[in-house]
Amino acid sequence: MVDLRSDTLTMPDYPMLETILTARLGDDGRTDAKGRGEDPTINRLEDMAAALVGKEAAILMPTGTFGNTIAVMTHCHAGQTVLVDEEQHMLLTEKFAFEQDLGRLTPVCYHQDSRHMPDPDELDKLLTESGASLICLENSHNFSGGYCIDLPTMAAIRKVADRHGVPIHMDGARLFHAAAHLHTTVKQVCQYVDTVMFCVSKGLGAPVGSLLCGTEAFCAKARANRKLFGGVMRQAGVVAAPAIYALEHNVERLTEDIENAQYVHQQLSGKLHKVRLQEEVQTNILMLNLTDAGILADEFCKRAKERGLLIRPIRNQYRVRLVFYKGITRKDAEEAAAILLALDSEL
Ligand SMILES: *Cc1c(COP(=O)(O)O)cnc(C)c1O
Repeated sequence: MVDLRSDTLTMPDYPMLETILTARLGDDGRTDAKGRGEDPTINRLEDMAAALVGKEAAILMPTGTFGNTIAVMTHCHAGQTVLVDEEQHMLLTEKFAFEQDLGRLTPVCYHQDSRHMPDPDELDKLLTESGASLICLENSHNFSGGYCIDLPTMAAIRKVADRHGVPIHMDGARLFHAAAHLHTTVKQVCQYVDTVMFCVSKGLGAPVGSLLCGTEAFCAKARANRKLFGGVMRQAGVVAAPAIYALEHNVERLTEDIENAQYVHQQLSGKLHKVRLQEEVQTNILMLNLTDAGILADEFCKRAKERGLLIRPIRNQYRVRLVFYKGITRKDAEEAAAILLALDSEL
């Protein structure tokens, strides 16, 4: 079975697991004057993450959702307005921030332009109209099919934000994929945002964890909020050690996943009769569009499974997502492409 449901399916390899056995541990909830805990492995991971993205500090979070939620609730007060992409994970798949009996933030949605990026002029206009106090970006963008925001656009968005005096939070669950596509470093991508969350639990292959990064002052507040939300994870050096291993060993290889996604796109381009492909594959995600295929996503995925390919509907019954990750080989990609061609030919 070729399983392309999600890059959260990556399994830790033996050397990664081995790091847990020798990790030095402590209670991350016992904090010093700067708010840092006593787990030296967590502290090492947080320093590493901060340096990588070029921010002063970082905080280990249990999940990406937790990291985004703490970020937004640290930037904003209940009742404030936030600019989010209409298809942003934070808006559609996360619960707290925009729920009117929980985080009580009001979302104002911006759209993607023809290049699948936010339009700085639209953000400018929406900020003027809504008086929003935060801009949220997602890079790479999950539901659009892994599209990235390029550096010139990031810089233009920064200018708009500065003009309005609002901070920018970036959901970088797949930040390292974006940097790979843009042929740059994560630090270059993150220079335009105030805070960024990235996941080590997805393409980077660690079992658990996300990092929220920003200034010392922001992170001190975010740490306090994380505690109030129940997100202090005591001896989570057992989580941090594989995360460190992931950052040291699994970043370069992300290009393999991107190449496999692009390979499948290439194999299918021009050969499908009913199923439509996203225009261009930039990272490790490939979306299929079934709008004109005469079959709904559930049924399509069921037929794929019968042939040995696990994929799943995403967002609605007309879209199916394929995600490539560590553990998926070129041979798996070939097999996936062959199965999709066969399925399409029978529609
Ligand atoms: C997966 C994901 C998250 C949330 O991460 P979890 O660790 O699953 O909570 C946030 N944003 C995007 C874009 C994601 O793909």
